Formats: sequence, structure tokens, C-alpha cells
Amino acid sequence: MPAGGIGGARFLQGLLAQVESDTEITVIGNTGDDIWLHGLRVCPDLDTVMYTLGGGISVERGWGREGETFTVKDELAAYGVEPTWFGLGDRDIATHLVRTRMLQAGYPLSAVTEALCTRWQPGVRLLPMTDDRAETHVIVDDPDGAVADDGSPQRRALHFQEWWVRYRASLPAHEIVLVGGDEAGPAPGVLEAIATADAIILPPSNPVVSIGTILQVRGLRDALRDSGAPVVGVSPIIGGRPVRGMADACLSAIGVETSAQAVGEHYGSRQHGGLLDGWLVDSVDDEVAIPDVIVEALPLLMSDPESTGRIAAAALHLAERLRP
Ligand code: GDP
Ligand code: CA
Repeated sequence: MPAGGIGGARFLQGLLAQVESDTEITVIGNTGDDIWLHGLRVCPDLDTVMYTLGGGISVERGWGREGETFTVKDELAAYGVEPTWFGLGDRDIATHLVRTRMLQAGYPLSAVTEALCTRWQPGVRLLPMTDDRAETHVIVDDPDGAVADDGSPQRRALHFQEWWVRYRASLPAHEIVLVGGDEAGPAPGVLEAIATADAIILPPSNPVVSIGTILQVRGLRDALRDSGAPVVGVSPIIGGRPVRGMADACLSAIGVETSAQAVGEHYGSRQHGGLLDGWLVDSVDDEVAIPDVIVEALPLLMSDPESTGRIAAAALHLAERLRP
């Protein structure tokens, strides 16, 4: 299962409650959101999955640690050290310290993630999509108002986190690019997991900067297409809006409407070179139809463990039905 942060992690909680305890689940985590901050390597989506499934997440915020304090962040701000806009918590920093130290000792991110997971025991095999550095950047008009020689706004590339966290995705995105994406190869185990899977589920993660980013890793899209396993997607868009977050700002950057219909069409039918065999949409979107994709409508709000479990069960049942 390819996954971003909160949407992917919540769905996985429901999925784990639905399967036998010996079921092997491999999660291919988005690393396009990763960033160096104050000399620390931060992997927000991997950590959200790891903390959520390991019982360490702040349930209230949906990211970062439970019982978190922000003393180090405040101290850094008192020194006037930028960036000040990223919520780096004290407990969370311990994770980034361990990760950074291991990376600097020469371990690949996949090995570092495995080591961090020995503490958290997420109940899934969590793989980064790639061990290579590939970071999502967003092209915007200069937020400070700089103009080019011809008087038009100067364009600037912001790291995805700066655009998302600092500017709350309010600066219109001309383009979203994965810097280093051309060279990013799959982490060990990623292609094998896809090739040998019984079912592949695209959870309700951001279609552009989570799933879309993962799909850019070399060989990954082909591996999904070639896999014998059915691919079932769960829509992150309900009634024309993202459930939480600003996925609409990402979708408009790639010219896709914010609707369950348009995102399903964007993923496309596997029979026509796309990804999907099945597509779960919310009950309010029951008019969605995509040629050669089985569409099912059911409540898709992951508001509590029971409703999330029902969504996961529906995805599994549909995959079962679609298995050749
Ligand atoms: P991020 O990396 O933390 O932004 O998380 P993801 O990429 O995994 O997921 C973000 C997406 O999850 C957003 O586009 C939301 O619309 C979607 N999402 C969040 N909560 C729900 C929910 O309860 N139901 C559905 N269907 N989608 C959700
Ligand atoms: Ca993310």
C-alpha cells in the first residue's frame, strides 16, 4: 500500500483491525515531504504512519507525538534561527536525531526506518518509497513580491513544507515538482512487495503530493500496472472537498478538479494504462462512473475506528472480488 501521512495512517489503523494478525502489510511511504531542518532529517509521512500505528501519535493534532512540548523550537526561535514555522517537538526531535545520526553513519533511509520501527512496532512493514533524496517543491510567485525584468512576478521554488505549513498552501501553485525524482529508484523491497501482493490499496492519501509522488519513483508505476494483484483506491475527496488539508490546492496545480470523479479519472482504469480496478467513493458521490473501473459508494469519513474499519473491509472485499 502506497501511503502519505494522516490519510494513509488512519486507513491503516482500520485495515489492521480487519485482517488476521499474520497478514503481511507493506506500506510504501512518501518521502517527497522530507526536509532538513536545523541539521536534522525529518520524514513527516513515515513518522506519521509509524507513530499512529505504534500508539505514539498526538490524536488531537494527527501529527507529531502525544504529550509533546516545544522547548527546543522556542529556544531556536529565541536565537532567531530560521525556519521557525515548522512544528518540531522535543520528543519528535529524538527520532530525528537517531535518524540523522544513522544516515550520517552511512545507513540508507530504509534501514534507518526499520531501526526506528523496532521501537514502535507498527504492525506493518514500513518502507520508504526510495532511499534517494527526492523532495517535492512548489513553484509560486515570489511571496516577497519580487518581479522579473519584464515586470511579471518572479517565480520561486519553495520546499513543499514551506508552501504547506508556512503558507497553508495559500500561494497558487504554478507547478509541483519532485526535485531529484528522475534519479530516485525504489528502496529495497518496494518492487518485490508490489509484484507479490495479493491486493494493492491506494488509501485516501493526497493524490498529488503523496500517491502522485510515490508513483514517480522509477519503475513503480510499471510495477503496479504489471502486478497480478487488483488495485483498489479510496477517494480522499468527499462531496467536492478534501476531508482535511488542502489537497484542492495540489489538484488545481496539476489541472485536476477536486472531485471523486476527477481523481478517479486521473488515476485511470488499469485496462486503459491507468492504475485502478476498483474505486471507493463516499455515498454523496454515488453518481461517479469511470469506464472499466468498479465503483462502489459508502460512507468514507474515517471519524472513528469502526467507520474506518468498514472502509478498509470494503476495500478488501472489492479487491477479493476483482482478483483474477
Ligand atoms: P498527509 O501526508 O498527512 O497530508 O496525509 P495523506 O496524504 O495520507 O492524506 C491526506 C488526504 O487524506 C487528504 O487529501 C484528505 O482529504 C484525506 N482524508 C483525511 N481524512 C479523511 C477521511 O476521513 N476520509 C477520507 N475519505 N479521506 C480523508
Ligand atoms: Ca505528507
